Amino acid sequence: MTQIKELYAPSGANCRPGLALLPRYITIHNTANTSKGAGAQSHAAYLHGWGKDKSVSWHYAVDDKLITHCIPDVEVAWHAGDGVNGTGNRQSLAIEICENPESNLLAATDNAAELTAALMKQYGVPIGNVVQHNHWNGKDCPRRIRRGEPYDWTMFLAKVQGFFAVQAKPETAPQPQAEGVLWAVQTGAYRVRENAQAALAAMKSKGYEAYVTKSGGLMRVQLGAFAVRQNAANYAAKLNAQGITAFVVRKEVK
Ligand SMILES: [Zn+2]
Repeated sequence: MTQIKELYAPSGANCRPGLALLPRYITIHNTANTSKGAGAQSHAAYLHGWGKDKSVSWHYAVDDKLITHCIPDVEVAWHAGDGVNGTGNRQSLAIEICENPESNLLAATDNAAELTAALMKQYGVPIGNVVQHNHWNGKDCPRRIRRGEPYDWTMFLAKVQGFFAVQAKPETAPQPQAEGVLWAVQTGAYRVRENAQAALAAMKSKGYEAYVTKSGGLMRVQLGAFAVRQNAANYAAKLNAQGITAFVVRKEVK
């Protein structure tokens, strides 16, 4: 895949609110910026400069030669236009396809399709949850793809599926998936209801989606459940990296 350069926007700026995101959707945009030089690098620079205090941002900017990773995948970016609590803003990763004239739009759009496939694999996002910005608020975006430039949405999704099929398997082989098994990411187990509720409230106040499940006489604060063990392990590792205790537990589902 095209090189991905990590250039995260400064923490605490309006463009990077630090709210937790568990990616369930991937949202595709075109930048609508046809200025010379408005490629992936300068879109990252914008979020470090005079764009950093605007509530407009994206996870990735993609041109024909480079992908910049501007907001971490596990944090919210403001891109969907569906409000502070909108599903688009709170549950989707944003990919901006650059339109600067010196970038080849076909190559840039192909790069975005390949990145989309990689993120689907990483987070277990189904193809049905790869959506246009238009899906969230009716905006004419991604405007170039919507005009069939360099190809239309049906072709974009077909390319995504093609990349998905050929991408290398994860380095750690996933466990064979058994029917009726889920891999839950948990942050604690409690005998006392008040303690579980307090832990739940603490996670929610940090912006994490969390809920309490009961099993074996314990109330467990759960942060997500995955069909594929590796996806659960990846999410737990990301939480650990943010200083949150999280571990993976096997759950039988009836
Ligand atoms: Zn858009």
